[in-house]
Amino acid sequence: MVRRLPVSLSLALVLLIALPAGATQDLEMVFPHQGVTTEFSDDFGVYAKERTHKGSDIFSPKGTEVVAVADGFVVSMSRGTKAGYNIKLRHADGYSTLYLHLNDDAPGTDNGRGGWSGAFAEGLEVGDFVQAGQVIAYVGDSGNAENTPSHTHFELHRWGSAIDPYPFLADANDAYQVRQAIDAGETVYR
Ligand SMILES: [Zn+2]
Repeated sequence: MVRRLPVSLSLALVLLIALPAGATQDLEMVFPHQGVTTEFSDDFGVYAKERTHKGSDIFSPKGTEVVAVADGFVVSMSRGTKAGYNIKLRHADGYSTLYLHLNDDAPGTDNGRGGWSGAFAEGLEVGDFVQAGQVIAYVGDSGNAENTPSHTHFELHRWGSAIDPYPFLADANDAYQVRQAIDAGETVYR
């Protein structure tokens, strides 16, 4: 005689196995821009200029501090014609983050002469360990962002492929806003 599991129990088992893989967000992020009002949207996957957008654009004033979203190591710091000044961090659990179009201007100008020190935090080098919230760079418009409002093109990768960073950014921004409000002495209801 064949014994079968009740349908509801089978379904529960399937959910138990399937859910953790897709539904969890185990990377807790600090919002990449600090101390300012920022604008960002769920623009991952938007197709424009013959390519698919692989990140989120976070708009903030030029020179705004860019911080590491999580603990990690600096994998690369470079300057490319399209990406402009950019930095990549590697985090735990297969995650890595990229920050593009960092500042290339001298303070108060749009002259493209900010150099390495205008783009990256002083003394930061490839191989360094950085903590979540540590300043790593400054917002700008370098590379092919030259004629756009200054922003960080932010990418989140896991095991080498780009994933939509928006839900992570939205969570981080919510937490940031709440903290700002608490710091300002407001009563916060959640
Ligand atoms: Zn972008």
